[in-house]
Amino acid sequence: MKIYDLHSHTTASDGQLSPTALVQRAVQQQVDALAITDHDSTEGWLEASEAVQKQKLPLQLVTGVEITCQWQQREIHLVGLRFAVNHPSLQSLLSQQRQYRYQRAQVIADYLAQQHGIMGIWQSLQHVNAKATALTRSHIANLLIQKHYGHYPAQVFQRYLIDATRAVGELAWCSLEQAIQQIQQAGGQAVLAHPDRYALKEPQFLELLNEFQAAGGQALEVAYSRQTTPQRQRLSLYAQRYQLLASAGSDFHYPGGVNELGRNLLLPSSSRAIWLSWGKQQRVMNKSVEQQYSL
Ligand code: AMP
Ligand code: MN
Ligand code: MN
Ligand code: MN
Repeated sequence: MKIYDLHSHTTASDGQLSPTALVQRAVQQQVDALAITDHDSTEGWLEASEAVQKQKLPLQLVTGVEITCQWQQREIHLVGLRFAVNHPSLQSLLSQQRQYRYQRAQVIADYLAQQHGIMGIWQSLQHVNAKATALTRSHIANLLIQKHYGHYPAQVFQRYLIDATRAVGELAWCSLEQAIQQIQQAGGQAVLAHPDRYALKEPQFLELLNEFQAAGGQALEVAYSRQTTPQRQRLSLYAQRYQLLASAGSDFHYPGGVNELGRNLLLPSSSRAIWLSWGKQQRVMNKSVEQQYSL
């Protein structure tokens, strides 16, 4: 059976591996189809697709992105798959999101300096920003660890970053509807990422699923790392109930962790896999968008 891993990160956002190293590792891990889904960035695509071509890697590379959306004062992540990567209005949305990430990082760095006397974060972030196109809170967490303010990311989030993020105030991410619309205009499919990581109570979770489906969302990420079998089965049932397809992705950020590429991503038999929809029809639709935007 083929292994599909449709959620992974590179150095274009907060992943540890370069796009080239990521596709090589995917092959080592026996992944057949991979989507690179950096936070609000498709920067890794070009390098990764060149590496696949030049090295003749046996890997189907799918365009991808993970868009941070705002929903009821929360951050919800949408994965976009199989879109024309150069589509101008999608790229303009992503560029706005990255600009917001930059501003947010500055507010967080100022907060850390003023409230905790932690100096130099903003300066160090300038070096990070030269490499990664999308600044994330993981980058700030890593800097705090380097400066000995904690030992591991969850700890510095708890100690500093959760409070510091509150200081940002009103969030300015795009809405679910905007993200879905842009992904679809670019010929792609919208997937609700890791649906049970938002700590939503049942009524609110159903509200989210309703809104996602009503806005044209196509799939739920049913299989991902760090899930129990009942959790996965529950998501598969919701996908069926809301007539959504099922996606699978490790959310890989670095080698050797619990989110290893291609590991433990089998969909329950009740799921209808999103890749089964990648037949002729979707290809034809993508072709016309691709021709327009010279993919
Ligand atoms: P951002 O999109 O900039 O908010 O950063 C998101 C990244 O921060 C994600 O990739 C998560 O892995 C990481 N993250 C968020 N919350 C936590 C937490 N409580 N502990 C550890 N990492 C976290
Ligand atoms: Mn991340
Ligand atoms: Mn996410
Ligand atoms: Mn992710």
